[in-house]
Amino acid sequence: MAKMKAAVVTQACDGNVEIIEKEIRPLQTNEALVEVEYCGVCHTDLHVAAGDYGDKPGRVLGHEGIGIVTEIADGVTALKVGDRVSIAWLFKACGACEYCNSGRETFCRTVLNAGYTADGGMATHCIVDADYAVKVPEGLDPAQASSITCAGVTTYKGIKVSGVRPGQWVAIYGAGGLGNLGVQYAKKVFGAHVIAIDINDDKLQLAKECGADITLNPKTDDVAKVIHEKVGGVHAAVVTAVSKDAFNSAIDAVRAAGRVVCIGLPPDTMDLSIPRIVLDGIEVVGSLVGTRQDLAEAFQFGAEGLVVPVVQKRTLAETAQIFQEMHDGKIQGRMVIDMKAPCECHG
Ligand SMILES: [Zn+2]
Ligand SMILES: [Zn+2]
Repeated sequence: MAKMKAAVVTQACDGNVEIIEKEIRPLQTNEALVEVEYCGVCHTDLHVAAGDYGDKPGRVLGHEGIGIVTEIADGVTALKVGDRVSIAWLFKACGACEYCNSGRETFCRTVLNAGYTADGGMATHCIVDADYAVKVPEGLDPAQASSITCAGVTTYKGIKVSGVRPGQWVAIYGAGGLGNLGVQYAKKVFGAHVIAIDINDDKLQLAKECGADITLNPKTDDVAKVIHEKVGGVHAAVVTAVSKDAFNSAIDAVRAAGRVVCIGLPPDTMDLSIPRIVLDGIEVVGSLVGTRQDLAEAFQFGAEGLVVPVVQKRTLAETAQIFQEMHDGKIQGRMVIDMKAPCECHG
């Protein structure tokens, strides 16, 4: 039986990963085998590895996978050999419930998530459900596509949910892996004016280069106050930061009838002033990754060059090191594992 190399959660679920060799099982109904080209590393992978969402020993990590279909099960029509496809957090849903049938499939109660409840893309090979692997359009670099598979679609969808219209102001809290793409989608695709907020000046500089009209650092700026002084409050705020302070600031930064979209996932509660919510008609809503349709759209804007993810290629052998760097907050842009790069761990 053919073998693959994979980055898996350790038996102790202690936040570490190990590279193992694993058999590639035979395909079942409606499945396809994907030879993975690239897989990005996301903060969520750290949480899965640490057992923060329940222990998953031996699980193949990764939900930012991109690869080429090399085999399809009998009867598969959605994909053909040679197609380039994604391995996303939305790995498979039931396709029949109220959420699946109303354009909200990411909230399907029996959804499977790649790298968490299904084996994911941080491996040389991955078996996908043919109906849920989204095709990558021509002209989109596969390493950049991997970044759009999670970080890109999550912010694209978040801005969609914010309802911001051309010419309006949107605040993007957090200018890291997600926020940087958020700035680009908000500016180039939605035609909004963008304020980027981060505690790291390097990330703000990058946000400025990517199109942010205004950048603010909460360490030196009274963010909500400055936003009201400069633009009269934003029409919407999208919070990608993993800090409670950012969520609270977003509530203060929106103008009346503004909407706050929550994407970042700190294990916390936020402060909601009831008079503020009622008297100013503020809306607060969560947004979770994106549907297959959202991902297809997010890919297409990447293929058209409107959005350019900042990625750095690494090897599978470096996975544990990347996790440590991410844990220590040392990463700029997105780390993407190149599955074809020579990996000294298994020769
Ligand atoms: Zn992710
Ligand atoms: Zn469903």
